[in-house]
Amino acid sequence: QDSMPSDYEIAQSTEMVPIWDFLEPWDLDSSDLQYSGEYKAKIEHHAVERLRDDAADRAQNLVLVTGMTPTPLGEGKTVTTVGLGQTLDHLGKEAVIAIREPSLGPIFGVKGGAAGGGYSQVLPMEDINLHFTGDLHALTSAHNLIAAMLDAKISQGSELEIDVNDVEWPRALDMNDRVLRETVVGLGGKTGGTPREDGFLLTAASELMAVLCLASDLGDLKERIARIIVAYDDEGDPVTVDDIEATGPVTMLLRDAIKPNIVQTIEGTPAFVHGGPFANIAHGTNSLIADKAAFGMGDYLVTEAGFGSDLGAEKFMNIVCRFGEMTPNVLVLVASVRALKYHGLDMWPTDYDAIAEAGVDAIERGFENLDKHVQNLQQFGVPVVVAVNRFPNDTDEEIQTVLDHCRDDIGVKAAESTVFADGGEGGVDLAENIIEEVETNDPDDFAFLYEDDASIKEKIETVATEMYGADGVTYTGTASEDIERMEELGFAEYPVCLSKTFHSLSDDSSKKGAPTDWSLEVREVYPSAGAGFLVALTGDVLTMPGLPADPAAADMDIDAEGNISGLF
Ligand code: ADP
Ligand code: MG
Repeated sequence: QDSMPSDYEIAQSTEMVPIWDFLEPWDLDSSDLQYSGEYKAKIEHHAVERLRDDAADRAQNLVLVTGMTPTPLGEGKTVTTVGLGQTLDHLGKEAVIAIREPSLGPIFGVKGGAAGGGYSQVLPMEDINLHFTGDLHALTSAHNLIAAMLDAKISQGSELEIDVNDVEWPRALDMNDRVLRETVVGLGGKTGGTPREDGFLLTAASELMAVLCLASDLGDLKERIARIIVAYDDEGDPVTVDDIEATGPVTMLLRDAIKPNIVQTIEGTPAFVHGGPFANIAHGTNSLIADKAAFGMGDYLVTEAGFGSDLGAEKFMNIVCRFGEMTPNVLVLVASVRALKYHGLDMWPTDYDAIAEAGVDAIERGFENLDKHVQNLQQFGVPVVVAVNRFPNDTDEEIQTVLDHCRDDIGVKAAESTVFADGGEGGVDLAENIIEEVETNDPDDFAFLYEDDASIKEKIETVATEMYGADGVTYTGTASEDIERMEELGFAEYPVCLSKTFHSLSDDSSKKGAPTDWSLEVREVYPSAGAGFLVALTGDVLTMPGLPADPAAADMDIDAEGNISGLF
Protein backbone atom coordinates (compact mmCIF):
# COMPACT_ATOMS: atom_id res chain seq x y z
CA GLN A 1 0.00 0.00 0.00
CA ASP A 2 2.89 2.36 0.67
CA SER A 3 3.76 2.40 -2.99
CA MET A 4 0.26 3.38 -4.10
CA PRO A 5 0.19 5.98 -6.87
CA SER A 6 -1.08 9.46 -5.98
CA ASP A 7 -4.76 10.34 -6.28
CA TYR A 8 -3.99 12.40 -9.37
CA GLU A 9 -2.02 9.54 -10.97
CA ILE A 10 -4.84 7.09 -10.30
CA ALA A 11 -7.34 9.56 -11.72
CA GLN A 12 -5.19 10.19 -14.81
CA SER A 13 -4.79 6.49 -15.53
CA THR A 14 -8.54 5.82 -15.38
CA GLU A 15 -10.39 5.72 -18.65
CA MET A 16 -13.56 7.74 -18.34
CA VAL A 17 -16.67 7.23 -20.43
CA PRO A 18 -17.96 10.33 -22.26
CA ILE A 19 -20.78 11.67 -20.11
CA TRP A 20 -23.37 11.36 -22.90
CA ASP A 21 -22.64 7.64 -23.23
CA PHE A 22 -22.36 7.23 -19.48
CA LEU A 23 -25.85 8.62 -18.86
CA GLU A 24 -27.62 6.80 -21.68
CA PRO A 25 -28.96 3.99 -19.45
CA TRP A 26 -31.04 6.64 -17.64
CA ASP A 27 -32.41 8.04 -20.91
CA LEU A 28 -30.60 11.29 -20.31
CA ASP A 29 -29.66 12.66 -23.71
CA SER A 30 -28.40 15.93 -25.12
CA SER A 31 -31.75 17.64 -24.67
CA ASP A 32 -31.63 16.81 -20.95
CA LEU A 33 -28.01 17.69 -20.31
CA GLN A 34 -25.88 20.81 -20.36
CA TYR A 35 -22.39 19.51 -21.10
CA SER A 36 -19.29 21.00 -19.61
CA GLY A 37 -16.61 19.29 -21.65
CA GLU A 38 -16.62 15.55 -22.22
CA TYR A 39 -17.01 14.30 -18.66
CA LYS A 40 -19.18 16.74 -16.73
CA ALA A 41 -22.79 17.68 -17.23
CA LYS A 42 -25.57 19.59 -15.59
CA ILE A 43 -29.05 18.12 -15.66
CA GLU A 44 -31.68 20.47 -17.08
CA HIS A 45 -34.76 21.33 -15.02
CA HIS A 46 -37.23 19.29 -17.08
CA ALA A 47 -35.03 16.21 -16.73
CA VAL A 48 -34.70 16.74 -12.98
CA GLU A 49 -38.51 16.84 -12.85
CA ARG A 50 -38.69 13.59 -14.78
CA LEU A 51 -36.20 11.91 -12.44
CA ARG A 52 -38.19 13.15 -9.48
CA ASP A 53 -41.26 11.45 -10.92
CA ASP A 54 -39.27 8.28 -11.59
CA ALA A 55 -38.27 8.22 -7.93
CA ALA A 56 -41.82 7.25 -7.00
CA ASP A 57 -41.13 3.79 -8.48
CA ARG A 58 -37.78 3.44 -6.75
CA ALA A 59 -36.80 2.17 -3.30
CA GLN A 60 -35.28 5.54 -2.24
CA ASN A 61 -32.95 3.97 0.31
CA LEU A 62 -30.97 6.78 1.88
CA VAL A 63 -27.54 6.05 3.36
CA LEU A 64 -25.93 8.98 5.16
CA VAL A 65 -22.18 8.92 5.78
CA THR A 66 -20.81 10.96 8.67
CA GLY A 67 -17.84 10.65 10.99
CA MET A 68 -16.26 10.97 14.40
CA THR A 69 -14.52 14.25 15.31
CA PRO A 70 -11.78 14.35 12.66
CA THR A 71 -8.17 15.46 12.65
CA PRO A 72 -7.68 18.54 10.44
CA LEU A 73 -6.79 16.25 7.52
CA GLY A 74 -10.18 14.45 7.52
CA GLU A 75 -10.84 10.77 8.23
CA GLY A 76 -12.34 9.65 4.95
CA LYS A 77 -16.05 10.40 4.75
CA THR A 78 -15.86 11.38 1.10
CA VAL A 79 -13.64 8.39 0.33
CA THR A 80 -16.09 6.09 2.13
CA THR A 81 -19.13 7.66 0.44
CA VAL A 82 -17.65 7.22 -3.02
CA GLY A 83 -16.26 3.76 -2.26
CA LEU A 84 -19.48 2.51 -0.71
CA GLY A 85 -21.47 3.75 -3.69
CA GLN A 86 -19.15 1.78 -5.95
CA THR A 87 -19.50 -1.34 -3.79
CA LEU A 88 -23.30 -1.21 -3.69
CA ASP A 89 -23.29 -0.79 -7.44
CA HIS A 90 -21.13 -3.91 -7.86
CA LEU A 91 -23.46 -5.81 -5.59
CA GLY A 92 -26.26 -5.03 -8.06
CA LYS A 93 -27.98 -2.41 -5.92
CA GLU A 94 -28.07 0.47 -8.43
CA ALA A 95 -26.42 3.08 -6.28
CA VAL A 96 -26.00 6.78 -6.87
CA ILE A 97 -23.64 9.05 -4.91
CA ALA A 98 -24.23 12.67 -3.95
CA ILE A 99 -21.50 14.85 -2.44
CA ARG A 100 -20.69 18.54 -2.13
CA GLU A 101 -18.56 20.48 -4.55
CA PRO A 102 -15.20 21.48 -3.11
CA SER A 103 -14.41 25.02 -2.01
CA LEU A 104 -11.06 26.53 -2.94
CA GLY A 105 -10.56 27.78 0.63
CA PRO A 106 -9.80 24.41 2.27
CA ILE A 107 -8.17 23.00 -0.90
CA PHE A 108 -5.42 25.60 -0.61
CA GLY A 109 -5.51 25.49 3.18
CA VAL A 110 -4.96 22.04 4.66
CA LYS A 111 -7.22 19.53 2.91
CA GLY A 112 -5.81 19.72 -0.57
CA GLY A 113 -8.87 18.27 -2.34
CA ALA A 114 -12.32 16.91 -1.67
CA ALA A 115 -13.12 14.53 -4.51
CA GLY A 116 -12.38 11.32 -2.57
CA GLY A 117 -9.04 9.55 -2.82
CA GLY A 118 -7.18 6.44 -3.91
CA TYR A 119 -9.48 4.11 -5.88
CA SER A 120 -12.59 5.86 -4.59
CA GLN A 121 -12.69 9.17 -6.40
CA VAL A 122 -15.07 11.20 -8.48
CA LEU A 123 -13.66 12.25 -11.83
CA PRO A 124 -12.26 14.38 -13.33
CA MET A 125 -10.85 15.15 -9.87
CA GLU A 126 -8.71 18.10 -10.94
CA ASP A 127 -11.69 19.83 -12.58
CA ILE A 128 -13.94 19.12 -9.60
CA ASN A 129 -11.35 20.45 -7.16
CA LEU A 130 -10.64 23.60 -9.16
CA HIS A 131 -13.34 25.56 -10.99
CA PHE A 132 -15.58 22.59 -11.92
CA THR A 133 -18.71 23.96 -13.59
CA GLY A 134 -18.37 27.42 -12.07
CA ASP A 135 -21.10 27.15 -9.43
CA LEU A 136 -18.96 28.60 -6.64
CA HIS A 137 -18.01 31.55 -8.84
CA ALA A 138 -21.64 32.15 -9.74
CA LEU A 139 -22.57 32.10 -6.07
CA THR A 140 -19.77 34.52 -5.20
CA SER A 141 -20.91 36.92 -7.93
CA ALA A 142 -24.54 36.64 -6.93
CA HIS A 143 -23.69 37.22 -3.28
CA ASN A 144 -21.63 40.30 -4.11
CA LEU A 145 -24.29 41.67 -6.45
CA ILE A 146 -26.60 41.82 -3.45
CA ALA A 147 -23.86 43.57 -1.45
CA ALA A 148 -23.26 46.12 -4.22
CA MET A 149 -26.96 46.83 -4.75
CA LEU A 150 -27.42 47.21 -1.01
CA ASP A 151 -24.54 49.66 -0.65
CA ALA A 152 -25.84 51.62 -3.64
CA LYS A 153 -29.17 51.99 -1.84
CA ILE A 154 -27.39 53.10 1.31
CA SER A 155 -25.11 55.67 -0.28
CA GLN A 156 -27.49 56.99 -2.94
CA GLY A 157 -30.14 57.53 -0.31
CA SER A 158 -33.37 55.60 -0.57
CA GLU A 159 -36.82 55.47 0.96
CA LEU A 160 -35.77 52.23 2.68
CA GLU A 161 -33.99 54.14 5.47
CA ILE A 162 -31.47 51.37 6.03
CA ASP A 163 -29.65 51.52 9.36
CA VAL A 164 -25.96 51.52 8.39
CA ASN A 165 -25.16 49.97 11.75
CA ASP A 166 -27.52 47.08 11.09
CA VAL A 167 -26.40 45.75 7.72
CA GLU A 168 -26.44 41.93 7.80
CA TRP A 169 -24.98 41.11 4.40
CA PRO A 170 -21.16 40.99 4.32
CA ARG A 171 -19.26 40.33 1.11
CA ALA A 172 -18.17 36.82 0.04
CA LEU A 173 -15.08 35.17 -1.41
CA ASP A 174 -14.15 31.53 -2.07
CA MET A 175 -10.68 31.85 -0.55
CA ASN A 176 -9.34 31.46 2.98
CA ASP A 177 -8.24 35.05 3.48
CA ARG A 178 -8.25 36.10 7.12
CA VAL A 179 -7.36 39.78 6.55
CA LEU A 180 -10.75 40.32 4.91
CA ARG A 181 -12.68 38.97 7.88
CA GLU A 182 -13.34 42.49 9.17
CA THR A 183 -12.95 45.51 6.93
CA VAL A 184 -14.07 49.09 6.55
CA VAL A 185 -15.79 49.96 3.27
CA GLY A 186 -16.91 53.22 1.77
CA LEU A 187 -13.61 55.11 2.13
CA GLY A 188 -12.53 57.57 -0.55
CA GLY A 189 -14.59 60.66 0.07
CA LYS A 190 -18.01 61.59 -1.27
CA THR A 191 -17.93 59.29 -4.27
CA GLY A 192 -16.70 56.30 -2.26
CA GLY A 193 -20.04 55.42 -0.70
CA THR A 194 -21.01 55.45 2.95
CA PRO A 195 -18.18 54.40 5.27
CA ARG A 196 -19.11 51.52 7.55
CA GLU A 197 -17.69 48.38 9.05
CA ASP A 198 -18.05 45.36 6.82
CA GLY A 199 -16.39 41.98 6.31
CA PHE A 200 -16.14 38.92 4.13
CA LEU A 201 -17.35 35.40 4.64
CA LEU A 202 -16.48 32.31 2.69
CA THR A 203 -18.85 31.62 -0.21
CA ALA A 204 -19.63 28.26 1.44
CA ALA A 205 -21.08 30.25 4.36
CA SER A 206 -23.25 32.54 2.22
CA GLU A 207 -26.97 32.18 2.72
CA LEU A 208 -27.18 31.90 -1.06
CA MET A 209 -25.29 28.60 -0.79
CA ALA A 210 -27.78 27.33 1.77
CA VAL A 211 -30.67 28.52 -0.37
CA LEU A 212 -29.28 26.84 -3.48
CA CYS A 213 -28.91 23.59 -1.57
CA LEU A 214 -32.45 23.63 -0.17
CA ALA A 215 -34.44 25.00 -3.14
CA SER A 216 -36.66 22.53 -4.98
CA ASP A 217 -36.50 24.27 -8.37
CA LEU A 218 -35.79 27.61 -10.06
CA GLY A 219 -39.11 29.13 -8.97
CA ASP A 220 -38.54 28.11 -5.37
CA LEU A 221 -34.98 29.44 -5.56
CA LYS A 222 -36.32 32.82 -6.63
CA GLU A 223 -38.88 32.95 -3.82
CA ARG A 224 -36.23 32.06 -1.26
CA ILE A 225 -33.79 34.67 -2.59
CA ALA A 226 -36.51 37.35 -2.38
CA ARG A 227 -37.00 36.61 1.35
CA ILE A 228 -33.34 36.87 2.39
CA ILE A 229 -32.84 39.60 5.00
CA VAL A 230 -29.88 41.85 4.21
CA ALA A 231 -30.32 44.69 6.71
CA TYR A 232 -32.76 46.35 9.09
CA ASP A 233 -34.22 49.85 8.72
CA ASP A 234 -34.34 52.66 11.25
CA GLU A 235 -37.48 51.16 12.76
CA GLY A 236 -35.81 47.76 13.14
CA ASP A 237 -37.86 46.16 10.36
CA PRO A 238 -36.14 43.74 7.96
CA VAL A 239 -34.92 44.87 4.55
CA THR A 240 -34.95 41.96 2.09
CA VAL A 241 -33.29 41.16 -1.22
CA ASP A 242 -36.63 41.92 -2.79
CA ASP A 243 -36.73 45.36 -1.15
CA ILE A 244 -33.45 46.30 -2.82
CA GLU A 245 -34.76 44.95 -6.16
CA ALA A 246 -32.09 42.28 -6.46
CA THR A 247 -34.25 39.13 -6.67
CA GLY A 248 -34.35 38.98 -10.46
CA PRO A 249 -30.69 39.56 -11.33
CA VAL A 250 -29.43 37.38 -8.48
CA THR A 251 -31.63 34.46 -9.52
CA MET A 252 -30.54 35.01 -13.11
CA LEU A 253 -26.88 34.71 -12.09
CA LEU A 254 -27.69 31.35 -10.49
CA ARG A 255 -29.65 29.89 -13.40
CA ASP A 256 -26.95 27.34 -14.19
CA ALA A 257 -25.66 26.87 -10.66
CA ILE A 258 -29.03 25.49 -9.55
CA LYS A 259 -28.82 22.63 -12.09
CA PRO A 260 -27.20 19.59 -10.47
CA ASN A 261 -23.80 18.46 -11.77
CA ILE A 262 -23.30 14.80 -12.57
CA VAL A 263 -20.01 12.94 -13.08
CA GLN A 264 -18.70 9.37 -12.77
CA THR A 265 -16.51 7.65 -10.19
CA ILE A 266 -13.35 5.71 -11.00
CA GLU A 267 -15.45 2.56 -11.26
CA GLY A 268 -18.28 4.13 -13.22
CA THR A 269 -20.90 4.83 -10.56
CA PRO A 270 -22.94 8.00 -11.16
CA ALA A 271 -22.17 10.80 -8.74
CA PHE A 272 -23.86 14.13 -8.18
CA VAL A 273 -21.43 16.81 -7.03
CA HIS A 274 -23.55 19.83 -6.28
CA GLY A 275 -23.61 22.63 -3.71
CA GLY A 276 -21.02 23.03 -1.00
CA PRO A 277 -22.02 24.46 2.38
CA PHE A 278 -19.59 23.57 5.20
CA ALA A 279 -21.03 21.72 8.16
CA ASN A 280 -19.38 23.87 10.83
CA ILE A 281 -20.54 27.26 9.58
CA ALA A 282 -23.57 26.17 7.52
CA HIS A 283 -25.81 23.12 7.08
CA GLY A 284 -23.19 20.94 5.43
CA THR A 285 -24.73 18.76 2.73
CA ASN A 286 -25.05 18.81 -1.05
CA SER A 287 -28.19 20.11 -2.74
CA LEU A 288 -31.62 18.66 -2.16
CA ILE A 289 -32.17 18.88 -5.93
CA ALA A 290 -29.28 16.44 -6.43
CA ASP A 291 -30.68 14.07 -3.80
CA LYS A 292 -34.13 14.11 -5.38
CA ALA A 293 -32.74 13.50 -8.87
CA ALA A 294 -30.53 10.70 -7.53
CA PHE A 295 -33.56 8.90 -6.08
CA GLY A 296 -34.87 8.64 -9.63
CA MET A 297 -31.68 7.02 -10.92
CA GLY A 298 -31.00 4.26 -8.42
CA ASP A 299 -32.35 2.40 -5.42
CA TYR A 300 -29.62 3.51 -3.04
CA LEU A 301 -28.48 7.07 -2.51
CA VAL A 302 -25.19 7.36 -0.61
CA THR A 303 -24.54 10.89 0.56
CA GLU A 304 -22.09 12.62 2.90
CA ALA A 305 -22.76 15.05 5.73
CA GLY A 306 -19.74 17.14 6.66
CA PHE A 307 -17.62 16.72 9.81
CA GLY A 308 -18.99 14.76 12.75
CA SER A 309 -22.43 13.55 13.82
CA ASP A 310 -22.67 16.73 15.91
CA LEU A 311 -22.45 18.94 12.82
CA GLY A 312 -23.36 17.72 9.33
CA ALA A 313 -25.41 14.70 10.35
CA GLU A 314 -27.45 16.57 12.97
CA LYS A 315 -28.20 19.30 10.42
CA PHE A 316 -28.93 16.83 7.65
CA MET A 317 -31.55 15.16 9.78
CA ASN A 318 -33.05 18.16 11.59
CA ILE A 319 -32.95 20.58 8.66
CA VAL A 320 -32.52 18.86 5.30
CA CYS A 321 -34.69 15.81 5.98
CA ARG A 322 -37.35 18.09 7.52
CA PHE A 323 -37.49 20.32 4.44
CA GLY A 324 -36.94 17.57 1.90
CA GLU A 325 -39.29 15.09 3.58
CA MET A 326 -36.64 12.38 3.52
CA THR A 327 -35.90 9.58 5.94
CA PRO A 328 -32.43 8.09 6.29
CA ASN A 329 -32.35 4.29 6.32
CA VAL A 330 -28.83 3.77 7.62
CA LEU A 331 -26.22 6.06 9.17
CA VAL A 332 -22.58 5.22 8.49
CA LEU A 333 -20.08 6.55 11.01
CA VAL A 334 -16.54 6.73 9.63
CA ALA A 335 -13.83 6.09 12.22
CA SER A 336 -10.09 5.91 11.77
CA VAL A 337 -7.21 4.69 13.89
CA ARG A 338 -5.61 8.09 13.33
CA ALA A 339 -8.55 10.02 14.76
CA LEU A 340 -8.95 7.63 17.69
CA LYS A 341 -5.31 8.14 18.65
CA TYR A 342 -5.73 11.91 18.24
CA HIS A 343 -8.48 11.83 20.86
CA GLY A 344 -6.66 9.30 23.03
CA LEU A 345 -3.55 11.49 23.11
CA ASP A 346 -5.77 14.50 23.84
CA MET A 347 -3.61 16.62 21.58
CA TRP A 348 -4.00 20.13 20.24
CA PRO A 349 -2.61 21.20 17.88
CA THR A 350 -2.27 17.98 15.91
CA ASP A 351 1.07 16.19 15.90
CA TYR A 352 0.86 13.52 13.21
CA ASP A 353 4.25 12.02 14.10
CA ALA A 354 3.12 11.42 17.67
CA ILE A 355 -0.09 9.87 16.34
CA ALA A 356 1.90 7.51 14.11
CA GLU A 357 4.00 6.36 17.07
CA ALA A 358 1.13 5.91 19.52
CA GLY A 359 -0.04 2.40 20.41
CA VAL A 360 -3.30 0.56 20.92
CA ASP A 361 -3.72 2.12 24.37
CA ALA A 362 -4.16 5.54 22.71
CA ILE A 363 -6.86 4.07 20.49
CA GLU A 364 -8.66 2.72 23.53
CA ARG A 365 -8.54 6.08 25.27
CA GLY A 366 -9.98 7.66 22.13
CA PHE A 367 -13.08 5.45 22.10
CA GLU A 368 -15.05 7.97 24.16
CA ASN A 369 -15.24 10.23 21.11
CA LEU A 370 -16.42 7.41 18.83
CA ASP A 371 -18.94 6.23 21.41
CA LYS A 372 -20.47 9.68 21.78
CA HIS A 373 -20.92 9.94 18.00
CA VAL A 374 -22.60 6.52 17.93
CA GLN A 375 -24.96 7.59 20.75
CA ASN A 376 -25.69 10.84 18.91
CA LEU A 377 -26.74 9.00 15.79
CA GLN A 378 -28.76 6.38 17.65
CA GLN A 379 -30.96 9.18 19.02
CA PHE A 380 -32.50 9.58 15.56
CA GLY A 381 -33.90 6.05 15.56
CA VAL A 382 -31.91 4.99 12.51
CA PRO A 383 -29.51 2.00 12.48
CA VAL A 384 -25.83 2.88 12.72
CA VAL A 385 -22.93 1.03 11.09
CA VAL A 386 -19.34 2.03 11.91
CA ALA A 387 -16.94 2.02 8.93
CA VAL A 388 -13.34 1.66 10.05
CA ASN A 389 -11.47 3.40 7.25
CA ARG A 390 -8.13 1.66 6.92
CA PHE A 391 -5.09 3.87 6.27
CA PRO A 392 -1.82 2.44 4.82
CA ASN A 393 0.08 2.16 8.10
CA ASP A 394 -2.75 0.78 10.25
CA THR A 395 -1.99 -2.67 11.65
CA ASP A 396 -4.36 -5.63 11.80
CA GLU A 397 -4.28 -5.41 15.58
CA GLU A 398 -5.32 -1.76 15.54
CA ILE A 399 -8.21 -2.35 13.16
CA GLN A 400 -9.36 -5.38 15.12
CA THR A 401 -9.28 -3.40 18.37
CA VAL A 402 -11.72 -0.89 16.91
CA LEU A 403 -14.01 -3.55 15.40
CA ASP A 404 -14.10 -5.51 18.68
CA HIS A 405 -14.90 -2.41 20.68
CA CYS A 406 -17.82 -1.51 18.42
CA ARG A 407 -19.28 -5.02 18.31
CA ASP A 408 -18.58 -6.22 21.86
CA ASP A 409 -18.45 -3.12 24.04
CA ILE A 410 -21.13 -0.88 22.53
CA GLY A 411 -23.10 -3.36 20.42
CA VAL A 412 -23.02 -1.55 17.11
CA LYS A 413 -22.37 -3.11 13.70
CA ALA A 414 -18.91 -2.37 12.34
CA ALA A 415 -16.85 -3.26 9.30
CA GLU A 416 -13.39 -2.53 8.00
CA SER A 417 -13.32 -0.50 4.79
CA THR A 418 -10.39 -0.54 2.38
CA VAL A 419 -12.11 1.34 -0.44
CA PHE A 420 -9.22 3.81 -0.63
CA ALA A 421 -6.72 1.07 -1.55
CA ASP A 422 -9.10 -1.41 -3.21
CA GLY A 423 -11.99 0.61 -4.64
CA GLY A 424 -15.45 -0.97 -4.47
CA GLU A 425 -14.05 -4.39 -3.57
CA GLY A 426 -12.83 -2.95 -0.30
CA GLY A 427 -16.33 -2.12 0.90
CA VAL A 428 -18.13 -5.45 0.59
CA ASP A 429 -18.33 -6.21 4.32
CA LEU A 430 -19.52 -2.67 5.03
CA ALA A 431 -22.09 -2.75 2.22
CA GLU A 432 -23.48 -6.11 3.34
CA ASN A 433 -24.07 -4.75 6.82
CA ILE A 434 -25.82 -1.75 5.34
CA ILE A 435 -28.01 -3.81 3.03
CA GLU A 436 -29.03 -6.00 5.95
CA GLU A 437 -30.05 -2.98 8.00
CA VAL A 438 -31.96 -1.46 5.11
CA GLU A 439 -33.83 -4.70 4.53
CA THR A 440 -34.72 -5.36 8.16
CA ASN A 441 -35.38 -1.92 9.65
CA ASP A 442 -38.46 0.23 9.74
CA PRO A 443 -37.74 3.75 8.48
CA ASP A 444 -40.74 5.00 10.46
CA ASP A 445 -38.60 4.83 13.59
CA PHE A 446 -36.79 7.97 12.40
CA ALA A 447 -37.45 11.02 14.57
CA PHE A 448 -36.22 14.61 14.61
CA LEU A 449 -34.42 15.77 17.73
CA TYR A 450 -36.94 18.61 18.25
CA GLU A 451 -40.28 19.66 16.85
CA ASP A 452 -41.03 22.92 14.99
CA ASP A 453 -43.04 24.31 17.88
CA ALA A 454 -40.30 24.06 20.51
CA SER A 455 -38.99 27.51 21.46
CA ILE A 456 -35.78 28.80 19.87
CA LYS A 457 -33.91 28.39 23.14
CA GLU A 458 -35.26 24.88 23.60
CA LYS A 459 -34.03 23.93 20.13
CA ILE A 460 -30.57 25.32 20.72
CA GLU A 461 -30.39 23.66 24.13
CA THR A 462 -31.52 20.32 22.73
CA VAL A 463 -28.69 20.30 20.19
CA ALA A 464 -26.18 21.52 22.80
CA THR A 465 -27.04 18.93 25.41
CA GLU A 466 -28.04 15.92 23.28
CA MET A 467 -25.41 16.24 20.53
CA TYR A 468 -22.50 18.17 22.01
CA GLY A 469 -22.69 16.86 25.55
CA ALA A 470 -22.99 20.35 27.11
CA ASP A 471 -24.73 20.91 30.45
CA GLY A 472 -26.57 23.90 29.06
CA VAL A 473 -26.26 27.08 27.02
CA THR A 474 -24.87 30.51 27.99
CA TYR A 475 -26.10 33.40 25.88
CA THR A 476 -23.56 36.19 25.45
CA GLY A 477 -23.21 39.20 23.15
CA THR A 478 -26.47 39.99 21.40
CA ALA A 479 -27.80 36.42 21.48
CA SER A 480 -30.71 36.93 23.87
CA GLU A 481 -31.90 40.13 22.15
CA ASP A 482 -31.47 38.42 18.78
CA ILE A 483 -33.71 35.57 19.87
CA GLU A 484 -36.41 38.00 21.01
CA ARG A 485 -36.21 39.76 17.66
CA MET A 486 -36.48 36.42 15.82
CA GLU A 487 -39.62 35.60 17.79
CA GLU A 488 -41.14 39.02 17.03
CA LEU A 489 -40.38 38.58 13.34
CA GLY A 490 -42.24 35.26 13.36
CA PHE A 491 -39.26 32.93 12.92
CA ALA A 492 -39.81 30.89 16.08
CA GLU A 493 -40.86 27.80 14.09
CA TYR A 494 -37.60 27.58 12.16
CA PRO A 495 -35.10 24.81 12.85
CA VAL A 496 -31.71 25.94 14.17
CA CYS A 497 -28.34 25.69 12.45
CA LEU A 498 -25.59 25.93 15.05
CA SER A 499 -22.26 27.14 13.82
CA LYS A 500 -19.61 25.35 15.89
CA THR A 501 -15.99 24.27 15.57
CA PHE A 502 -15.44 20.82 14.05
CA HIS A 503 -12.25 20.23 16.04
CA SER A 504 -14.13 19.19 19.16
CA LEU A 505 -17.56 17.97 20.23
CA SER A 506 -17.52 21.05 22.45
CA ASP A 507 -17.17 24.70 21.40
CA ASP A 508 -13.49 24.67 22.40
CA SER A 509 -11.25 23.38 19.59
CA SER A 510 -8.58 22.22 22.00
CA LYS A 511 -10.82 19.73 23.84
CA LYS A 512 -10.71 16.16 22.55
CA GLY A 513 -12.66 13.03 23.43
CA ALA A 514 -16.18 13.71 24.71
CA PRO A 515 -15.99 16.84 26.91
CA THR A 516 -18.38 17.07 29.89
CA ASP A 517 -19.07 19.78 32.49
CA TRP A 518 -19.19 22.69 30.10
CA SER A 519 -21.74 25.15 28.79
CA LEU A 520 -22.18 26.09 25.13
CA GLU A 521 -21.63 29.79 24.47
CA VAL A 522 -24.01 31.28 21.91
CA ARG A 523 -23.05 34.84 21.01
CA GLU A 524 -25.28 35.76 18.08
CA VAL A 525 -28.43 34.42 16.42
CA TYR A 526 -29.61 35.55 13.00
CA PRO A 527 -32.20 34.38 10.52
CA SER A 528 -31.47 32.74 7.20
CA ALA A 529 -34.96 33.65 6.08
CA GLY A 530 -34.39 32.40 2.54
CA ALA A 531 -33.07 29.06 3.70
CA GLY A 532 -35.66 28.87 6.46
CA PHE A 533 -33.49 28.33 9.52
CA LEU A 534 -31.89 30.33 12.32
CA VAL A 535 -28.12 30.43 12.56
CA ALA A 536 -26.61 30.46 16.06
CA LEU A 537 -22.94 31.42 16.24
CA THR A 538 -21.07 29.69 19.06
CA GLY A 539 -17.61 30.02 20.59
CA ASP A 540 -15.01 31.41 18.24
CA VAL A 541 -16.04 29.73 14.97
CA LEU A 542 -15.02 31.72 11.91
CA THR A 543 -17.05 32.21 8.75
CA MET A 544 -13.86 33.38 7.04
CA PRO A 545 -10.98 31.04 7.97
CA GLY A 546 -7.36 31.85 7.21
CA LEU A 547 -4.52 29.90 5.59
CA PRO A 548 -2.04 28.09 7.86
CA ALA A 549 1.65 29.11 7.86
CA ASP A 550 2.40 26.16 5.57
CA PRO A 551 -0.64 25.92 3.28
CA ALA A 552 -1.33 22.97 0.96
CA ALA A 553 -1.19 25.53 -1.87
CA ALA A 554 2.58 25.92 -1.44
CA ASP A 555 3.08 22.30 -2.55
CA MET A 556 0.89 22.54 -5.65
CA ASP A 557 2.22 22.96 -9.15
CA ILE A 558 1.46 22.61 -12.84
CA ASP A 559 4.11 21.97 -15.50
CA ALA A 560 4.32 23.30 -19.04
CA GLU A 561 2.43 20.25 -20.30
CA GLY A 562 -0.43 20.93 -17.90
CA ASN A 563 0.35 18.13 -15.44
CA ILE A 564 -0.78 18.97 -11.96
CA SER A 565 0.83 17.96 -8.67
CA GLY A 566 0.01 18.49 -5.02
CA LEU A 567 -3.74 18.10 -5.44
CA PHE A 568 -4.71 15.10 -3.34
P1 ADP B 1 -13.55 13.73 4.83
O1 ADP B 1 -14.53 13.71 3.72
O2 ADP B 1 -14.00 12.95 6.02
O3 ADP B 1 -13.08 15.07 5.20
P2 ADP B 1 -11.76 12.57 2.89
O4 ADP B 1 -12.49 11.41 2.38
O5 ADP B 1 -11.74 13.80 2.05
O6 ADP B 1 -12.26 12.95 4.35
O7 ADP B 1 -10.29 12.11 3.27
C1 ADP B 1 -9.37 13.03 3.84
C2 ADP B 1 -8.00 12.82 3.23
O8 ADP B 1 -7.49 11.55 3.62
C3 ADP B 1 -8.03 12.79 1.71
O9 ADP B 1 -6.84 13.37 1.24
C4 ADP B 1 -8.10 11.32 1.39
O10 ADP B 1 -7.60 11.03 0.12
C5 ADP B 1 -7.26 10.72 2.49
N1 ADP B 1 -7.70 9.36 2.85
C6 ADP B 1 -8.93 9.00 3.22
N2 ADP B 1 -8.99 7.68 3.48
C7 ADP B 1 -7.74 7.20 3.29
C8 ADP B 1 -7.15 5.90 3.41
N3 ADP B 1 -7.87 4.85 3.80
N4 ADP B 1 -5.84 5.77 3.12
C9 ADP B 1 -5.10 6.84 2.75
N5 ADP B 1 -5.60 8.09 2.62
C10 ADP B 1 -6.91 8.28 2.88
MG1 MG C 1 -15.54 15.20 2.70
